[in-house]
Amino acid sequence: LSREFAMSVSTVAVDQAVCCDISGPLPVLGRDVTVPLVTGGEVTYAALDYAASAPALQRVWDDVAAYAPYYGSVHRGAGYLSQLSTDLFENARRTVTEFLDCRADDQLIFTRSTTDSLNLLAAALPDGCQVFVFETEHHASLLPWRDAQVTYLDAPRTPRQAVATLEEALAARTASGQEGQGPALVCVTGASNVTGELWPVRELAAVAHAHGARIVLDAAQLAPHHPVSVQDLDVDWVAFSGHKLYAPFGSGVLAGRADWLRAADPYLAGGGASRKVARRTDGGVDVEWHDTAARHEAGSPNVIGAYSIAAACNALTEAGFDTLVAREQHLIDTVRAGLAEVPEVRVLSLFGDDAPRVGVISFVVEGWNSSHFAAALSAEYGIGVRDGLFCAHPLVRTLLGSDPQTQGECGAPEAAPGEKSLNAIRVSFGAGT
Ligand code: PLP
Repeated sequence: LSREFAMSVSTVAVDQAVCCDISGPLPVLGRDVTVPLVTGGEVTYAALDYAASAPALQRVWDDVAAYAPYYGSVHRGAGYLSQLSTDLFENARRTVTEFLDCRADDQLIFTRSTTDSLNLLAAALPDGCQVFVFETEHHASLLPWRDAQVTYLDAPRTPRQAVATLEEALAARTASGQEGQGPALVCVTGASNVTGELWPVRELAAVAHAHGARIVLDAAQLAPHHPVSVQDLDVDWVAFSGHKLYAPFGSGVLAGRADWLRAADPYLAGGGASRKVARRTDGGVDVEWHDTAARHEAGSPNVIGAYSIAAACNALTEAGFDTLVAREQHLIDTVRAGLAEVPEVRVLSLFGDDAPRVGVISFVVEGWNSSHFAAALSAEYGIGVRDGLFCAHPLVRTLLGSDPQTQGECGAPEAAPGEKSLNAIRVSFGAGT
């Protein structure tokens, strides 16, 4: 395919967005990195894969660098640095709890990531818990429930249909008498990692609660773009990852109702989770587990991870979500307008053009293999996007209208050059750019 054509998509749809004046109060690391091009020369790298991992904010990095030389092991150390680290770790918990506007009696557990948080909750489900999850979810929220009884809900084509689908499924559960057999949990994403579309979380939470079910919000893609209030949305738990919220890799959060978490076995068994361990006279061991967040945080915690998430939350709060949302909307409009000018481009959408969305846009280009297209954007223009099925295989297949049985693996090239693409291209960005 012609170089001109690639230029039209990449410059109109992508470069415009990166180059327009969005240098706001949140400079990111690596903004000025130059990369070599196959055509010779070099260009400033355009990072457009924020939905996978957003570059850490300079402010977060500075905070971490200021603290890092002084860290010590938390909780049990008697020395000054241990006490300092313990304070910073527990302050980070308070900061993130406030950022999420949790209820007074909620627990906030530091985890490794959203995937880890949702697996933790899955391991804490009460016996007989029935889980309801839309097939459109990211695999991190689709798959952890496999030991429970799971009802997979069909992809809705409007937010209203999403609410109706859940209502119908929960009403069927009540009618069949299953309600009396155990609790239920609904798992829903706040913003899609494929289409960027916002899901009607508050409405879904209301339906879940009306049927005596609980709801966990996967806010991995929502929290970096919009304020998330546990109380306002009335969700029972929320999970997100630091590395998508302008913090470095390696830390995440699960926050919400304490009762299921307190009643569950520790996610990891070990020091920190146990309050008292003693040999029994019969030779065995008795363990008393903490009933605070420490129950699920065994081992030496990732203090810098927690600290950096809190630093990112502070940076976003100080920048102001009103400003950030407005700036991001400008970017979204610019990219979508650019893509609309290229007739070969089809933007993927579940809820339609007018649906509110975050800065995550997936598309296919007629006549192009998406993986080759993405590789060309990188090699020829220094633009980093993502190609594949984005760890949401059922959703992308629904959007592409393709046969589930003929698809390959996440991220793998799936069509020969010139053949119809079986996967998609994703550009994603945030106002922190
Ligand atoms: N949920 C959604 C909606 C995501 O987009 C992702 C990552 O892309 C995850 C969960 C998993 O996040 P992590 O890889 O940080 O566990």
